[in-house]
Amino acid sequence: MLKRISVAARAMASHSSNPAAPLAANVPRSLLGSAAEDAALAAVATNSALRFDWSKNEIKRIYDSPLMDLLFYSSLVHRKFHDGRAVQQCTLLSIKTGGCSEDCSYCPQSSKHATTVEATKLMKEDAVLAAARKAKEAGSSRFCMGAAWRDMEGRKSNFNSILGYVKEIRGMGMEVCCTLGMITETQAKQLKEAGLTAYNHNLDTSREFYPKIITTRTYDERLDTLAHVRDAGINVCSGGIIGLGESHDDRVGMLHTLATLPEHPESVPVNALLAVEGTPLEAQEPVKIWEMIRMIGTARIVMPQTMIRLSAGRVRFTQPEQAMCFMAGANSIFTGDKLLTTPNNAYNDDKAMFETLGLVPLEPKSVTAKDLEIEIPAPKVKDEILI
Ligand code: SF4
Repeated sequence: MLKRISVAARAMASHSSNPAAPLAANVPRSLLGSAAEDAALAAVATNSALRFDWSKNEIKRIYDSPLMDLLFYSSLVHRKFHDGRAVQQCTLLSIKTGGCSEDCSYCPQSSKHATTVEATKLMKEDAVLAAARKAKEAGSSRFCMGAAWRDMEGRKSNFNSILGYVKEIRGMGMEVCCTLGMITETQAKQLKEAGLTAYNHNLDTSREFYPKIITTRTYDERLDTLAHVRDAGINVCSGGIIGLGESHDDRVGMLHTLATLPEHPESVPVNALLAVEGTPLEAQEPVKIWEMIRMIGTARIVMPQTMIRLSAGRVRFTQPEQAMCFMAGANSIFTGDKLLTTPNNAYNDDKAMFETLGLVPLEPKSVTAKDLEIEIPAPKVKDEILI
């Protein structure tokens, strides 16, 4: 039987009896040394170690550290700021699939690519709420809804429906995240009022490499959406994908942009490309586990308080490989058979992994219907669930 750990308990542990604090003070300096070691020991030396002034060169030196150093020292930072065994389970549901007008080279949902994904309309409320209930019963504490749209312009009725979904799922006691494309300041405020916990809008890659992956919207438009989300008081979820053909400098560039935002995103998904037939990136080589660990470990050191999500591509990694990602600082996964349109790890495999590794599911932070003073809708008839 898996025990859950609450964020409150985690915070208390981290500020009172966190074994990493004395450990950090006593960690002997290695003879060889590395940038990962220097940065990690600086981060764990104080509780207020967040930095927003990283230079690209500093992050590159951490990223280039010997892998065993990076793994050990990112783990040290991880256990200073988080419970090292607590992993949040999130469920991502595609509430509107395919037919997207954008041309993201990796995405099977783009209408510009000849893939087998068929366009659907927005899922009905009953089906979405049934999926959220099912996810909660399976242990998820965050429910994410993804829609394949460029933005919400001209979609007032769909947007209003989604506001309703957010409100009701929040009332179930789950954190709620949406990824609906670009949103305006006003839409961000409306989502906040509905109770949205977080909004996902990935940078995908570095500013320099971005035009090779997407041409239908700019990097700055992405940053504008992140600013609208932050200004509305919604948590920012933003990360990227490796394996698109980018260089190591591009990976560092993306982390640099995220780590030097006015506030670090509360959540950074690290995805490994799952190349899909019919997309321009269909022939890309799969990402190696060492590349994931390097990315996760660096993200953990430069953004110590952020939730690092081991996201798409996890299905290709073995349990020992995933264990190393958790050691490096990943503390969230997506559960459920599908991640939007691509395959994901089986529920039973994840359950077995939690038991083998002694991981505990992380409770949502602050979500009760009472806190929000919203009405919980009566249970509705089950409808078709797409996950
Ligand atoms: S990643 Fe999102 S915006 Fe880009 S094509 Fe796919 S669904 Fe559209």
